[in-house]
Amino acid sequence: MKHLGFNIGKVKIGSFDFTCCEGCQLQLANRESTLPDFLALIDVRNFREISSERFDDYDIALVEGSVTRSDEIERLKKIRAQAKVLVAFGSCACFGGVNSLKNGIPQEEAVREVYDGKTIETMPSTRIADIVSVDYCIPGCPVSKEEVERILVGMVTRSLVSLPKYPVCVECKQRLNICLFDLGQLCLGPVTRAGCDAVCPTGRTACLGCRGPAEDINFPSFEQLVRDKKLSSSEMREMLGFYNGFADYLEHEKS
Ligand code: SF4
Ligand code: SF4
Ligand code: SF4
Repeated sequence: MKHLGFNIGKVKIGSFDFTCCEGCQLQLANRESTLPDFLALIDVRNFREISSERFDDYDIALVEGSVTRSDEIERLKKIRAQAKVLVAFGSCACFGGVNSLKNGIPQEEAVREVYDGKTIETMPSTRIADIVSVDYCIPGCPVSKEEVERILVGMVTRSLVSLPKYPVCVECKQRLNICLFDLGQLCLGPVTRAGCDAVCPTGRTACLGCRGPAEDINFPSFEQLVRDKKLSSSEMREMLGFYNGFADYLEHEKS
């Protein structure tokens, strides 16, 4: 973990949205039960969802969303130059997110579909780390409020902060869920990083991998499970591509 270079006490935070739904920022702003304690720890210098005041002297920048326009590149570089610590905040920022679905079709076609032929400048959805250096990624669509608070408090107090390394299946088993594979459905829980308390499979909905890959995952074994259960490999790949978190794996498969 990078040395943060600021004193324990109130840390100045800026939060910035790029191309996204702003759902991750809202997770923090809407958490009324802990918001007062959280605000006691941080000094909000720039956070559109929380305050109308704007200052440019922040220590930690939370960057939400992916980059999909050229003007966003310059804005992001300015934020990077100001921040001591830059956090890619949510799956759009960490991986390109759902916005990356447009990367699979010609950009003019994507614009025509959404904006009915208007001229809109756009570029492929690009993760923050492809443009500036990122100190920390907090994945999730949306992020987990508890996890964000834990990590930010850890940064402020200079404690060790980390994400779970194990897959969603561990949390799913802890919740005593029936495995969706046993119900004849695909689920990305075996390869996806835990930390969401297996919210989707607990609601009998497949994990779509919004938190990206767990560490040391065994992809061949996962693919074998899909084959053994006579489920569709193409559907598996489509699911892996939904948040773009498994892009490296899908690229490697193509080559
Ligand atoms: S990660 Fe999901 S919730 Fe967060 S900004 Fe992107 S689309 Fe919205
Ligand atoms: S339902 Fe999904 S997350 Fe739960 S145990 Fe089965 S594969 Fe893992
Ligand atoms: S179960 Fe999967 S898709 Fe659902 S929130 Fe967790 S990581 Fe994201």
